[in-house]
Parts: sequence; C-alpha cells; structure tokens
Amino acid sequence: METVYDCIVVGGGPAGLSASLFLARYLHSTLTFHHNTPRNQYAHGVHGFLGHHGISPAELLARGRDEITNHGGLIIEARVDRAEKISPELFHVTTGTGDGEGRSFAARRLLLATGLKDLTPDCPGFREFYGVSVHHCPDCDGYECRNKRVAVLGSGSKTVGFVLGLRTWTDNITLITGGDCGDITSEERSKLASLNIQIRNQEIIALEGDKDSKRLSRILFADADSLECDALFFNLGTELASDLPQKLGCKPDPECGLVWVDETQQTSVAGVYAAGDLTPNSQLAIVAAAEGAMAAIHIHQSLIPEEWKL
Ligand SMILES: Cc1cc2nc3c(=O)[nH]c(=O)nc-3n(C[C@H](O)[C@H](O)[C@H](O)COP(=O)(O)OP(=O)(O)OC[C@H]3O[C@@H](n4cnc5c(N)ncnc54)[C@H](O)[C@@H]3O)c2cc1C
Repeated sequence: METVYDCIVVGGGPAGLSASLFLARYLHSTLTFHHNTPRNQYAHGVHGFLGHHGISPAELLARGRDEITNHGGLIIEARVDRAEKISPELFHVTTGTGDGEGRSFAARRLLLATGLKDLTPDCPGFREFYGVSVHHCPDCDGYECRNKRVAVLGSGSKTVGFVLGLRTWTDNITLITGGDCGDITSEERSKLASLNIQIRNQEIIALEGDKDSKRLSRILFADADSLECDALFFNLGTELASDLPQKLGCKPDPECGLVWVDETQQTSVAGVYAAGDLTPNSQLAIVAAAEGAMAAIHIHQSLIPEEWKL
C-alpha cells in the first residue's frame, strides 16, 4: 500500500520551507522536495528579512530545513518532474533526479513553491559581480546603493518605472538599453531628462571591477566607450522555474502571467496551492515565507475532519 502524505511541498526556498514548518507543527505528514537552486543563490546576503537581515541565503535555508526535520517533517533533495491530480483527494508526484530518482509519491494536497528564474545579462563579468554589485531588485538592494553611481540595463516603459524607483536612493542613474529602447515614449524620455537620467543606447560587452570583492567599477560597450559605475541593476524579466503549474492545469494570473491564487493561496486546481515568487505578490524572501505560512494554514483547515468542526 502506498503512503499517502497529507501534503507534498515542491520547492525548498523560503515559501516551501515556511509552509513545511507550519504543516509539521500542525502534525501533518509532509514531504518536501528541493533541488537546491533557489533564486537568490548568488546573493551575498538576504536583506530586509526581520531578525535575519544579511544572513546568507544558504544559511537561512539550512536553518529552515533543520527546523522542519526537528518537527518530524521529511525533506528529499530531488527534482519533481511530474505532478498529476488522480482524484479530488489524491495527487501523485514523480521525481527525476537525486535521492528519490524516478520514484512516485502520493499526497492529499500539493503545494507548489517552485519560484522563478531571472533572465540575466549574457556578458563577461556578470557572474563575478552578481549578488554584490549587480542586482535585479531595488527593494532588496537599493539601500546598499544610496548615493552611488548606478546603471540600469533594460528597455521599454517598464524599465523607465524601474529607473524612477531607484531615484529613492541615488540621483546618479544611467539607463542602458543595450541598443533597443523598446516602447519608451517621448514623455518618459522628458521625465528622465528632467531628473538628469541619461539614456545610453549601447550594447554592453563586458563588466569590469575587483573580482575578489565582487565590486563593479566599469561597464564596457561594443563601440569601445565605457561608463564608470558602482552598481548595475538589470530588468530583463523572469520565467517560472518549473512547468509543474502548467502540467497541473493551474490558470495563470491574467495581469502578470504568474500562477493565479485565491485568498487562501489555492490555485484554480482544487487541492493545489501555490506560494512565493511564482504567485503575483512582491518577490521578497519574507513575503514568500509569509505566503508559505498562509498556504499551510489553509491546507491545514482543508484537512480538518468534519467531526472536529462546529
Ligand atoms: C540575486 C538575488 C538577490 C535577492 N536578494 C533578496 C534580498 O536581499 N531580500 C529579499 O527579501 N529577497 C531577495 N531576493 C528575492 C528572494 O530570493 C525571493 O523572493 C525568494 O527566494 C522567493 O522564495 P521562493 O521560495 O518563492 O522561491 P525560491 O527561493 O526560488 O525557491 C524555489 C525552490 O524550488 C525548488 N524547485 C523548483 N522547481 C523544482 C522542482 N521541479 N522540484 C523540486 N524543487 C524545485 C528550487 O530548487 C528552489 O529550492 C533576491 C533574489 C535574487 C535573485
């Protein structure tokens, strides 16, 4: 007879682990899968996570995993390749790599916390500076760039909004479009000009700086020109890190295309919940953790037997 867990959590970032911890504390049998590629693996520290500001991403997750196993939760390092709804109270997932290679597991509820992948610049030097002086998230790293020389790589109106957001911390900003301005309007150009924000329509070929300290100092362009700067933000978009939401038939949010959830973190597929970056809220570690906790509360409520209710 197969073991049917109360819940399987796919994803071991802040969202998945936070959910798993609460589910274990509700005494639910919970199995969590992760394959150790959290979105912020290149960050030197998690900023703004109350009580843990600056902790390394690996340390935060290692502590979380310990807390879960200390509460009796099970964690397997493996990638889940398939997930199916067999009946209203039964889901199957199948792993593809790691310890549980090619094995199937069953649960009454499924929580997807598989996160996002960032589309990153493809130029020499990027990896050397990413997470210390090259960033994608002003909410996470804007404070560290106050009064610094900041460049932003991206195009279109959405990047103009991104650039204006950085004005909170510095008045020395340059927008680099990489050769394609996209749909930036003349009104937006005037707005940037009025704030002394230059647009450079050049293609980046390399990033230079001190690789030991991961401090960027210069951006080199294809036309042999260069720009001295202390930090680079990029705004190139994201995609879901896993296709499990589509495979299960979870409907996308009509505005942003991420996974739609209701106020209980349940997706459009009954019994399948989602939490963290793959849902439409702000993409911060503490928000992901809070969504994971919310999902766990509602999963728990959905599992309470009728005879225990008023
Ligand atoms: C460079 C960088 C710096 C950042 N800095 C900050 C910061 O300073 N402060 C802050 O609050 N936020 C920061 N963030 C954002 C923060 O990292 C995310 O909001 C947070 O990690 C989202 O958590 P999550 O659990 O939703 O997803 P993730 O952390 O991405 O975790 C998803 C997990 O799912 C697993 N997974 C995916 N697919 C599968 C599968 N098929 N099977 C099994 N496992 C799977 C992955 O391996 C991963 O472990 C930063 C992000 C980046 C990229």
